[in-house]
Amino acid sequence: MAQMQMQQLMGRTAAVDDISTGSESDYAKCWISWFLSTKGNEYFCEVEEDYILDRFNLTGLNAEVQNYAQALDLINDNLGDDDIEDEMRATIEVNARFLYGLIHARWIVTSRGLAKMLEKYKKADFGRCPRVFCYSQPLLPVGLTDVPYEKAVKLYCPRCEDIYTPKSSRHGSIDGAYFGTTFPHMLFMVYPHMVPPKSAPSAGPQVPGSQSASREGAVGPAGVGTVSTAAAAMKAERYKPKIFGFGVHETARWQRWQEAMRDKQVGRLEAYERDEEGRRQREVARTR
Ligand SMILES: [Zn+2]
Repeated sequence: MAQMQMQQLMGRTAAVDDISTGSESDYAKCWISWFLSTKGNEYFCEVEEDYILDRFNLTGLNAEVQNYAQALDLINDNLGDDDIEDEMRATIEVNARFLYGLIHARWIVTSRGLAKMLEKYKKADFGRCPRVFCYSQPLLPVGLTDVPYEKAVKLYCPRCEDIYTPKSSRHGSIDGAYFGTTFPHMLFMVYPHMVPPKSAPSAGPQVPGSQSASREGAVGPAGVGTVSTAAAAMKAERYKPKIFGFGVHETARWQRWQEAMRDKQVGRLEAYERDEEGRRQREVARTR
């Protein structure tokens, strides 16, 4: 069922793409296409017209955006050319970008929005994790707050589960509220098979969605999937600072302590998984 919905969504995305790859003049007519093609806006995905036209989805935004009605008209390509002075038009343009950002934050946590962002993630449109042991893991945008004008967008790595500042200052200055605090975590909740494995890739950097990634990378949240939680925890690689081959004292001491804690935790998880397995087998034996 989910598979079928997914395929339908993908079909729909493909159809939209076909339309948007029109001639230069078609492109200029559509505000959203122009906005998405502008340098620096590569993190944004296309919000479908149906979503914007449903006023229910925009509840409350009229109180947050100045010149709301005109900004919305501009996004929907309904703003007439007449009677608006250049200065006012420039102001509305700024309001429209802000409004699009706020709509975008709501859209990307819907099922259709998630599917669009998943496609961008697969293409690594948001860049890759700079951490060596993450093996060029593609990133996802995340906000540190849902309130606009507070914090710029950051990039979340699902492999090391940490966040990074975008490389380019164009991206680094985008408001984090246009993506929100929920988005990347919602994406992995809806697509658990996209959660990358903690272990090193067997051959070359893995691309999510590729054959090898989906085969061995089936580590879901909290033990869902083919690899056990304990096995996944054991596979996480870490960097160890060394001076002439010896561990740096303070860091080494810390890491020894952390690893002892990890081993203890892994031991508990393994015991739990053994108990569960035993319980399952007893149940199977009873029902026979
Ligand atoms: Zn990482």
